[in-house]
Amino acid sequence: MEGPPRSEPGARGAPEPSDSELLQLLLEGPGEEALLLRPGDSGKPSSSNDLPLESFNEVFTGDGAAQKVKRKRAQTPLEKYDLKYLYVTDLSTQSWCEQQMVYGREQPQLQAPETIVLLNTGKSIHLARELEVHDVVKVQTTSKEDSWAIRILNLLSVIPVLQAGGCVRELPVFGVIEDVFLIGIIDELCYNANGELELRELKTRGRPSMPSGAQKKKDYFQVCLYKYMFDAMVRGQLKPDVITSHVHLRPDQPLGLPIRKHAQKAGFMVTCFGDLLELMYLNLTLSDIPSIDLLKIEYSHQESHTLLGTEVVQFAEEKVRERAQYYLAYWKGQREVQGVEIEEAWKCYSCVYSEICDWRKKRAEGLVQRSGPKKSK
Ligand code: SF4
Repeated sequence: MEGPPRSEPGARGAPEPSDSELLQLLLEGPGEEALLLRPGDSGKPSSSNDLPLESFNEVFTGDGAAQKVKRKRAQTPLEKYDLKYLYVTDLSTQSWCEQQMVYGREQPQLQAPETIVLLNTGKSIHLARELEVHDVVKVQTTSKEDSWAIRILNLLSVIPVLQAGGCVRELPVFGVIEDVFLIGIIDELCYNANGELELRELKTRGRPSMPSGAQKKKDYFQVCLYKYMFDAMVRGQLKPDVITSHVHLRPDQPLGLPIRKHAQKAGFMVTCFGDLLELMYLNLTLSDIPSIDLLKIEYSHQESHTLLGTEVVQFAEEKVRERAQYYLAYWKGQREVQGVEIEEAWKCYSCVYSEICDWRKKRAEGLVQRSGPKKSK
């Protein structure tokens, strides 16, 4: 079977190894003009230290006295980075250390070379697994809507497979939490021997051992968000206008010829972007695809390909929402960025940003306030 179309990959800094985030890069767009950042990324990150929640514009009068002439609302991080959506992995990396996630975005060049090697190996393993179930083709895109059409086509192509009880890999999911649009990619969805729909997330590791509890917690949150978004999609909660309004896409934008040709080959007659969105909505809601029953994370060793262990994750919707709400409050400018608390200061020892980290310095001086989502397993 011909596999999902892909626009040319982009590039983006990641604060720590995340196989899924790397594969998400393969879906970046728009265009074969090799977009190097996400659509909307400014490409000119600045320091997180200039992120006050309140700021003033000041002018100086002739006698030298400063007068506040107008109060200007400071940009939220979403506005500062010109982001119309976030990735699920943005939120899950926040759960490891939010400050590190911000530095990773702003100063990716500080990442250790071994981390980059680990990321690239993880990406190759994911791609090889994906190619086991379908081919990947590149399609020329000429607009933002074309790039999004590729994502929608990828989703549309797997719906019949799931309906027929098959197994799919690299399934795109979209959703809205706290009025922020999120996208993610589920590694694998399959029906198990009991007929339950099972999500499997593959995590590859450089070391031949299971991760720490803190690392697992980050991964648990990631798969719970995937379930939250997928379930909402198959329940018909992701209306076409939700996507267009959040991501600022034009439903009446004509699709490029390569996209239309690919859609036609897949059995969809479409002319504009809105046609595809309607198709996606109808196919999802009328498909009878169930909610995800089981969440599993498989950890394997990159070098030997040995399976290190499998974790079954319990889904608690309220806790997932609560944590997402807390992390999104940072993005919406409702609170300042946070680093790790003293109990997790061990994370700082292996952090490439420890030398420049303001949070760490302030914590050492006793200047940080305790905050964070309610503790959950
Ligand atoms: S040094 Fe510690 S607090 Fe600072 S970014 Fe790294 S892990 Fe987070």
